[in-house]
Amino acid sequence: MPNKAYNCVLAVDIGGTNARFGIIDANGELIGEMNTLPVTLRADGVADEVELVELIRHQLKQATQRVDLLPAVGISLCGNVDRATGEAVLVPNLHWRNVPFGRMIQERCGVEVQIATDVRQAALAEALWGAASGVRNFLWVTVGTGYGGYLFLNGRLYGGSHGFAGNFGHTPLDEVDGYMCGCGQRGCVETFVAGPAIARAGQLALAKEQSQLLADLAASNQDEVTAPMVFEAFEAGDKAAQRILERVIFLICQNLGAAVNLLDLDMIVLGGGVCNGSEWFVKRIDQRIRDFLETVEARRDLQVARESFVDSALWGAAADVFAHRGIVGTSLLET
Ligand SMILES: [Zn+2]
Repeated sequence: MPNKAYNCVLAVDIGGTNARFGIIDANGELIGEMNTLPVTLRADGVADEVELVELIRHQLKQATQRVDLLPAVGISLCGNVDRATGEAVLVPNLHWRNVPFGRMIQERCGVEVQIATDVRQAALAEALWGAASGVRNFLWVTVGTGYGGYLFLNGRLYGGSHGFAGNFGHTPLDEVDGYMCGCGQRGCVETFVAGPAIARAGQLALAKEQSQLLADLAASNQDEVTAPMVFEAFEAGDKAAQRILERVIFLICQNLGAAVNLLDLDMIVLGGGVCNGSEWFVKRIDQRIRDFLETVEARRDLQVARESFVDSALWGAAADVFAHRGIVGTSLLET
């Protein structure tokens, strides 16, 4: 039996708006409650990295008073991270470029730091404790504020040459007339299928007077349509909302179907705010993707699962620490 009291770690998931904290043990169990705190922005709109480090230090101190913690912290960050140096290379949502975040935490808190991009941490959690436990080849996919994922191939996480594999959301579908994407390109898949794209399509339907229901729902929000409103309208049988979501699902299935055809995957795990908000959305992708798969075997065997945790990236941040310390999941790490 593992010593449960000893194998606890503070995990942190830093998004564009909030940072989430949780103490997680080596069985993947959350100890106590999760804690969510806002990310502080400086006057120039850039997230305050010094303040974030202080927040982590404070949470560590509090957690240490409650449980016997490993001298380490696991971090999930909403951008590209150099795992070897702990540097946040590019984090558009925090307006960070080349912030030595891992080193800052290490120096200020005096603990080991494991830090990686959120999609990679989420894939690790799914492989170790979640839906993809024991699965050999799978793709973690997030549909939320953004659209992207991470690969797990031949029983291990797969980062590619630079650790950036899984950026399939940034393939331009329309590089001429498409909307600008946060990555600097135009017309990426993400600009058609992520939460903001669903909201924008809903807004267009409202402007064209295609949906009275969306207009009614948006009236309580200064006529601004949100993605959850489009789902709410869909649930109520609204035709415009149905068209919007079927189009989004078509594009996602075309995109993910290409990944399955390329890599012969066993499973796709779908997470992120949009997927977590609608059971139907995931079920529909599960059905519809079969139309985009080349082989009978893939159509028959491909599994589509939902995110296993409230926040798989948070669980994965803890798993990353355990894996690096040789406690559990070490064989799942990239070679
Ligand atoms: Zn892009």
